[in-house]
Amino acid sequence: MITLDDVRKWDEHDELKEYKQEFFLKDATIYMDGNSLGLLSRRSEAALHQSLDDWREHGIEGWTQAAEPWYYMSEKLGQMTAPLLGASPDQVINTGSITTNLHQLLATFYTPEKGRTKIIGDELNFPSDIYALKSQMALHHLDPDEHFIPIESSDGYTLKEEDIIAHMKEDVALLLLPSVLYRSGQLLDMKILTKEAHKHGILVLFDLAHSIGAVPHQLDEWEVDFAVWCTYKYLNSGPGGTGGLYVNRRHLGTHPGLAGWFSSDKEKQFDMNHELTPSSNAGAFQIGTPHILSSAPLLGSLEMFLEAGIGNIRKKSLQLTQLFMDLIHQELEDFGFNIRNPLENERRGGHVCLVHEEAARICKALKSEGVVPDYRSPNVIRLAPVAFYTSYEDVYEVVRILKEIVQEEKHKSFKNERDIIA
Ligand SMILES: *Cc1c(COP(=O)(O)O)cnc(C)c1O
Repeated sequence: MITLDDVRKWDEHDELKEYKQEFFLKDATIYMDGNSLGLLSRRSEAALHQSLDDWREHGIEGWTQAAEPWYYMSEKLGQMTAPLLGASPDQVINTGSITTNLHQLLATFYTPEKGRTKIIGDELNFPSDIYALKSQMALHHLDPDEHFIPIESSDGYTLKEEDIIAHMKEDVALLLLPSVLYRSGQLLDMKILTKEAHKHGILVLFDLAHSIGAVPHQLDEWEVDFAVWCTYKYLNSGPGGTGGLYVNRRHLGTHPGLAGWFSSDKEKQFDMNHELTPSSNAGAFQIGTPHILSSAPLLGSLEMFLEAGIGNIRKKSLQLTQLFMDLIHQELEDFGFNIRNPLENERRGGHVCLVHEEAARICKALKSEGVVPDYRSPNVIRLAPVAFYTSYEDVYEVVRILKEIVQEEKHKSFKNERDIIA
């Protein structure tokens, strides 16, 4: 039996508790949607204001004179992101979005040849990844029905590594998978998958949308070929914040499939030559002018990740999701809820996946009670207790409110259908 006293004690001993004050949290609201859009921190706000000040003060000279010179900001952010990836910095660049970065990496490294044309993916991945993959196949005049292998899920929520491995054959060019599945929160074994894929000469590309900032990675050690991610989820860069990509050193030097002037070697960029000399590092996979105002907030946010350490963040995150599951078990057993994320620490990302037939209206009731959850059609309630700004008591409180809603049938006064954005 876990009590309010227990969770308050854990909060007292929480080594990351000070960070809650760094974020803008609304009174009487518990935010459980940091896996869709992370909250604004004071440091991100200051970093954005700094960029505006630099613009006001320096105009065009901001490219070299800004407090964090804009011309080098993508590389600087890549360098700051690298420790979250277990990567050395020259392989990491802040640029684009997940979808555009997927297009870039597929345009560059998916070079189907006779006998090796296929891409392994999964039927549970986020639609944008699949759209990008299929459209890149179409550009090669290949039919996705024939060349795309979507690994099926046996329970509708999770994947089995052995099913994925069983499809690795010599006709597969590339593997594109999420590190953490966006609905169930399952964390795939990236190390094993990469090792097995490489035995068959298959390139490995991971989408880290739901792991970066929540789970540590060892991309270099695992010898992953490529990765993409966004920064507006666990990394708190703000709506539309610039994303990032990783290209393993052994692939650096490959001419970008989608070239632009920011793919250039920085020394040569302003020669304005019509022959591109690409950067020798991951910067080569940038295209156009970096989105400075959408990148600046990340400077402030990453500073906190570097300070706190991703290992400590993961430790607290696992304790928070474990507490969630334990309390759901303790309090909500009889109310038609099912936990669909994997229960083991090493197979779980940063959120809890709670399934209920009336999930849509339960989420609406949660909002009316000051809890911001994340609904995914048709029956999933995602709850992300983000380590930086969630206390153990917050988790306790969310479960208490959930129980009150279903016990008193408060959700019945809402329609059981999704809103336009869910
Ligand atoms: C959030 C998310 C995206 C979004 O892609 P953008 O290009 O950043 O809009 C893509 N894939 C996955 C797996 C996601 O979770």
